[in-house]
Amino acid sequence: MSNMDFREVTENEDIIEVDAVSQADASEATEGENHDSHDDYEDICYICRRPESTAGKMISIYGGVKICTDCMQRTMDAMNSSGFGMPPGMSFGMNDMFGMPNGAAPTEGNDASEASKNQQKMPHIQMINLSDFNNMFGGFPGGGDMDGMFGGIPQSQRLKKKKKQEKKVKPVLDIHSIPAPHKIKASLDEYVVGQEHAKKVMSVAVYNHYKRVMAKPEDDGIEIEKSNMLMIGPTGCGKTYLVKTLAKLLDVPLAITDATTLTEAGYIGDDIESVVSKLLAAADNDVERAEHGIIFIDEIDKIAKKKNTNQRDVSGESVQQGMLKLLEGAEIEVPVGASSKNAMVPMTMVNTKNILFICGGAFPGLEDIIKERLNKAASIGFKADLKDKYDNEENLLRQVTVDDVRKFGMIPEFIGRLPILFSLDALTEDMLVSILTTPKNAIIKQYQKLLAMDEVKLEFEEAALRNIAKRAKEKKVGARALRAIIEEFMLDIMYEIPKDDNIGKVTITEDYIEKKGGPRIEMRGVLAIEDSQS
Ligand code: ADP
Repeated sequence: MSNMDFREVTENEDIIEVDAVSQADASEATEGENHDSHDDYEDICYICRRPESTAGKMISIYGGVKICTDCMQRTMDAMNSSGFGMPPGMSFGMNDMFGMPNGAAPTEGNDASEASKNQQKMPHIQMINLSDFNNMFGGFPGGGDMDGMFGGIPQSQRLKKKKKQEKKVKPVLDIHSIPAPHKIKASLDEYVVGQEHAKKVMSVAVYNHYKRVMAKPEDDGIEIEKSNMLMIGPTGCGKTYLVKTLAKLLDVPLAITDATTLTEAGYIGDDIESVVSKLLAAADNDVERAEHGIIFIDEIDKIAKKKNTNQRDVSGESVQQGMLKLLEGAEIEVPVGASSKNAMVPMTMVNTKNILFICGGAFPGLEDIIKERLNKAASIGFKADLKDKYDNEENLLRQVTVDDVRKFGMIPEFIGRLPILFSLDALTEDMLVSILTTPKNAIIKQYQKLLAMDEVKLEFEEAALRNIAKRAKEKKVGARALRAIIEEFMLDIMYEIPKDDNIGKVTITEDYIEKKGGPRIEMRGVLAIEDSQS
């Protein structure tokens, strides 16, 4: 058999098909139940790392290793051109790969004696026999699967197969299943305290976004614009929490990234496209689901244009530039299960057209820009106001405009792609008290549940709650400070109470928070008498 004969063999789909099936059967027999779950994932070419959906049909070779036809072809061509002719019967492991008996090429008219004759013609060439590998490593894990070896593909890098079109599958999103804006807001109300304006804007924007995804512009030529959002609010006021709650309600995948780690491609840091890669991971490597997901980019103010710099701004303006096509919608080639592209990572295409981007940041200094603008407008004309009129105004951020954000250092093209601009309010003491007690998973409810398991009732005096809120406000990190403060004094309670079975109720007093006294403890027996009297 000549080299060309061998090429024909690889192109002969029937033979390959049969081989692939037998391989599949074999692995099914060994892997048993596990095999079904593997069916959901795409095969990846062992050489070029492209998935089956891009590279086409895979050839299954020894040990469950998959190679695409392109790579197989290239390997054969390389062998031919190097003068390393493959004489009939020669194996270079191929016979093993195709499941042929040792020394026999997959054509008729070959015999083992001819093969050995040819091997003798090449005295210094050592033939590779893949079954030797098997023995060397004590067999492949998972009954002949080489994936676990040679830097094979970890589960996080496996791509889920796209669902076949002809099959009647449930759509990823259904307009009827997306709750109306007032319902979205009502659900957000259960978790997020205050921020009424932000909740309303987000509910409408998200509802419109998914309507847009479902609408077909080819019907009437009207294409609904994407409702990417830019939210501005002080740290710890609930920006991330709002987005997380929203994604949970809509049951769509969510990726949260920090803009500070992003740099222009080629520089140290994460590529801009890595955000899409994260979303794909959040969608369980299911491209279809990822394409309807939400990407939240936090700390977006950190990529503002740097002022007075002569150096190349690789983590500021360039990142904004790089994000433009992503925000608008483009086919992006992303690594699967890794944040950067390299030769060992499989790649896939994700379209960002229907991905909802929400950017958030605290934008320190933006209030001064707003104040300056307002003061300028107010000091012109006969009705000129006092220069410091806005100095003590709370929630100046509510008056933010696109111009202010541009002045802060965001480029116009970038802001243009985030058409929904809104702000969140700084948390007041009252809001902090509510955050402690009212949301569905409020921190105090969590402690009450823990102690209820020991049949102990936990209560907080109103003054104690206020005291905690006041302390948290002083720390200027929003609601984040609450947990730290509560944990500090709840430690002793959680440690001491379970010691004594007779304790029936604990009330946290203001004195206890102020470290002037202890909590009020009531015994089980006394409580029982009180209950029976009332
Ligand atoms: P940021 O605005 O900096 O993104 P987060 O959303 O991460 O702040 O808030 C931190 C934590 O504080 C959240 O996990 C949540 O528990 C709590 N929190 C903040 N704001 C609110 C709010 N308005 N209602 C309820 N909880 C809140």
